[in-house]
Amino acid sequence: MDASDIQSDLSDVLYTADQIQNRLNELAAEIEADYAGRDLLLVGVLNGAIMVMADLSRSLKRHCEMDWMAISSYGSGTQSSGVVRILKDLNTDLSGRHVLVVEDIVDTGLTLAYLIQNLKSRNPASIGVMAMFRKPEALRSPVEVKYIGYDLPNEFVVGYGLDYAGRYRNLRDLGTLAPHVYS
Ligand code: 5GP
Ligand code: MG
Ligand code: MG
Repeated sequence: MDASDIQSDLSDVLYTADQIQNRLNELAAEIEADYAGRDLLLVGVLNGAIMVMADLSRSLKRHCEMDWMAISSYGSGTQSSGVVRILKDLNTDLSGRHVLVVEDIVDTGLTLAYLIQNLKSRNPASIGVMAMFRKPEALRSPVEVKYIGYDLPNEFVVGYGLDYAGRYRNLRDLGTLAPHVYS
C-alpha cells in the first residue's frame, strides 16, 4: 500500500476542518446552556471519537471531566450487529453523574443503543448523546441524539477520527474515498 499523501485518496470533501469546528462551537454553546449548574462528564467512544472529543471539550468554556470506553461490534462485514463487546471500560463511577456520550457517527444506532442501555444500568443522574455525524438510517433508531453536528448522505466516510482499514483517522476534513483506494 502506498504510504504517501492522504488527501489525494479522497474523492470529495464533505466537511472541512473549519466547518466542523464552527459547528462544534455552536453545539458547545448549547451544551453550556443545557448543563448550566451541573457537573458534566463527557464519555468518549474510542477510537472514532478522539477528534470530536478533543475539539468539543476545548470549545467548552466551562469545566468538564472526560473518560473513555472502547467497544467493538461482534460479527463480520460492514453491517453493524448491535452486539457489542466492551474492550475498555470507564474508570469513573457514573452514579449521580450527568453523562454526555460523545460519538463520531451514528449509522444504524445499534452500537449506541447497546451503550446507552449499559450506561443507564449504572444509575447516572442523566444521559445525553452528542454525535458529530449522522447517517439517514439513524432516523429509524430509537436512541435520541440530542446534539448532532451534521447529517450525512448514506455514503461511507473517512477522516476526523473515522477510519477505513485503520487509516485516515488523522485526516482533518471529512470526506469520501476515491475508488482507487478500494481496488
Ligand atoms: P452503528 O451501530 O450506528 O451502525 O455504527 C456505528 C459505528 O460504525 C461508528 O461508531 C463507526 O465506527 C462505524 N461507522 C458507521 N458509518 C461509518 C462511516 O461512514 N465511516 C466509517 N469510517 N465508520 C462508520
Ligand atoms: Mg463511534
Ligand atoms: Mg471503524
